[in-house]
Amino acid sequence: MNYQRSSQLFVEAAKVIPGGVNSPVRAFKAVGGTPIFVKEAKGAYLFDEDGNRYIDYINSWGPMLLGHAFEPVVNAVIEKAKKGTSFGTPTALETEIAALAVSMVPNVDKIRFVNSGTEACMSAVRLARGYTKRDKIIKFSGCYHGHSDSFLIAAGSGLSTFGVPNSPGVTSGTAKDTLLAKYNDIANVKELFAANRNEIAAIIIEPVAGNMGCIPPKDGFLKALREVCTENGALLIFDEVMTGFRLAKGGAQELFGVKADIICFGKVIGGGLPVGAFAGRKEIMDYLAPLGPVYQAGTLSGNPLAMAAGYEMLKSINNDSELFNRLEEKTAYLEKGLHAELSKHSIAYTINRVGSMISVHFDPNPVYDFQTAANGDNETFKKFFHGLLKEGVYIAPSAYETWFITDALSYEDLDFTIAAAGRVAEIL
Ligand code: PLP
Repeated sequence: MNYQRSSQLFVEAAKVIPGGVNSPVRAFKAVGGTPIFVKEAKGAYLFDEDGNRYIDYINSWGPMLLGHAFEPVVNAVIEKAKKGTSFGTPTALETEIAALAVSMVPNVDKIRFVNSGTEACMSAVRLARGYTKRDKIIKFSGCYHGHSDSFLIAAGSGLSTFGVPNSPGVTSGTAKDTLLAKYNDIANVKELFAANRNEIAAIIIEPVAGNMGCIPPKDGFLKALREVCTENGALLIFDEVMTGFRLAKGGAQELFGVKADIICFGKVIGGGLPVGAFAGRKEIMDYLAPLGPVYQAGTLSGNPLAMAAGYEMLKSINNDSELFNRLEEKTAYLEKGLHAELSKHSIAYTINRVGSMISVHFDPNPVYDFQTAANGDNETFKKFFHGLLKEGVYIAPSAYETWFITDALSYEDLDFTIAAAGRVAEIL
């Protein structure tokens, strides 16, 4: 494959954009090489500036559940744009999408829209702190909740229970209020509660982790978190930015039958436009300004183009009773095919999957938390990534990312991908 134009564009971009990208993982730093510059996309395919076509397994990092340039969304955005792109006033459409979202998601009465997943998680934590009148939160190593200061925290050393900044610019004052726990380790969570009695406002968790590859919660783990929160007067925040409207209409809450107190959304809820949201029961959500004391705002929040895209997306998901079965079947088919090809060779690997989230880890042992995800062989992953790219199959350029399956994929696309993985496996 020829990447000449992408390479030139990357050089030009790097002159005026830090690292040539507006979000770091796009830069291929983890796998080496030059990122492809995409010109357009349709259905399951990306087309780059050199004219190469790729079957897309990232799907804009999750939003394009129904495929690229999905017509109902595109048409709704075009029609809305003709009538003005932002008013800074309430619109009827905001109530329509809010009512639809609330009807699809269990256990929520109200929802507030923002512009990104980061904003949703950041605001959810502020709301939890204001509501409980406590400062500390628990997050899990390897979970990502956006780039807000409270989340850019690594585990502290030794016996300390508080975290330390993992990016310059995050203050140690902020870090001390974020406690780090191990994913899937309920004993560790209980220890943190015991060491910080009546100080923990909330646990925030990706109910299926997607930012260390795909990591399912162990049986009973989410339920146990629910119990610990209830016992200790803390709120349970599900960051469903990846899982919301993807694993089920009602997301992970529905799939696992566990009630969270605040649920964060992003990605699918915006149909590919910049949208995030957070939702919860009335008594919690009414703690937000202008009704309550917790401040949160946004000039472009509830933007008409973004709401039009999100509304069409949610309607399409809500009206399609077979969607989640199809996604499950397609992803299970892919998983089976990848197993068949990879197991022909002496490759140490593990595949994790929940619904339409799947990841290949180059380690033979179970991958259930950040440490076990970090055990994967990154050199093998790099070869796998670049091999697939040359075959015209685009997976995320990092071993710590999940593949997001779109309903636009045909079984022919899946067969092509499986065969390509087989050819690449020979050279791993
Ligand atoms: N939460 C999760 C689980 C995510 O995966 C992401 C982004 O990938 C975010 C939050 C942040 O969302 P955004 O990139 O829209 O700010």
